[in-house]
Amino acid sequence: MRTTISVIKCDVGSLAGHHIVPKPILEMAEKRLKEAKEQGIINSYFVFNAGDDLELLMVHTRGENNEEVHGLAWEIFQKTAEKAKNLKLYGAGQDLLKTAFSGNIRGMGPGTAEMEIEERPSEPIVVFAADKTSGGAFNFPLFKIFADPFNTAGLIIDPSMAGGFKFEVLDVKENKKAVFKCPEEMYELIALIGSVDRYTISHVWRKRDDLLCAVTSTSRLSLIAGKYVGKDDPVAIVRAQHGLPALGEVLMPFLHSFFVEGWMRGSHWGPIMPVSLKDSKCTIFDGPPRIVAIGFQVVNGEIASDDDGKPLISDLFDDPAFDLARREAIEHAAIMRRMGEFEPARLSSEIMEYTTLPRILERFKDRFIPV
Ligand SMILES: [Mg+2]
Repeated sequence: MRTTISVIKCDVGSLAGHHIVPKPILEMAEKRLKEAKEQGIINSYFVFNAGDDLELLMVHTRGENNEEVHGLAWEIFQKTAEKAKNLKLYGAGQDLLKTAFSGNIRGMGPGTAEMEIEERPSEPIVVFAADKTSGGAFNFPLFKIFADPFNTAGLIIDPSMAGGFKFEVLDVKENKKAVFKCPEEMYELIALIGSVDRYTISHVWRKRDDLLCAVTSTSRLSLIAGKYVGKDDPVAIVRAQHGLPALGEVLMPFLHSFFVEGWMRGSHWGPIMPVSLKDSKCTIFDGPPRIVAIGFQVVNGEIASDDDGKPLISDLFDDPAFDLARREAIEHAAIMRRMGEFEPARLSSEIMEYTTLPRILERFKDRFIPV
């Protein structure tokens, strides 16, 4: 039996600006997924939010890109966006770029990360979800988790990790992909994934046996829509333990804050802040960009649950161990915001082409004369 973990997310509308998914929207999604479980479309689910993004975690045995599972998510996003419109929530339906569903939700606006696996004797999973940033935000932590021996002790001392990992890198501009092996192509890999706006790690496999270890959502909303429609607010699924990085090694990159593109109007570099689900809302300057992480076990095609069938979910960043990163994020936010709209606080002009800035620059075009 093969098990599929699907995380499909969408900003369907947010309370008081781009900051949080309100309770009635979460409850609607929860109710529909409960029905879908009873109907046998999915086996387990968990609904949560990353800032203003509604996140649907679904575990089932229908494989990736399944029409019924994607259709279920699409139906939920349409209905909740309708509710958001009735409440006049901010940005209601902003991520729903297409109207007619034709079997697969990819390329329609919502973000998708899916992983079909054969369950190991024990299958610990971490799902990360970030708000106010883009897919490239996972390049740095995924590199550290699967390739940096100063992060992951197992790369040095666990024989089952010998040989390292392979990374699939997506060129989101050209819509092409290539695979790089670590450690032998580590420098080349960094040369690419250091450019987080263009190259995104989409898959990681264990090199010796091609075991799938991690997947990310890699859509680029602006490239689908051809204009600025917000950042992609990515999700990632990572497997842990049993010949893969331990849970603590998967979380290790978040000991410190690091900079990601996004934040206010998707136009600034901002420090990522790991937070608990309770603090998963973006406030100051629409941020700082926040990331949540949930941990769970997959067992026989579903999420391990308690005797009442309630999924056992651990809110991983709900821990004082991440206070340092949170403190750093606030301090770095203050430093960056002192710069106002001067680079490097604002993204480079090349990336700003996909924002509303060119409409301002257009007005002065004729004022410039040859020198
Ligand atoms: Mg968002």
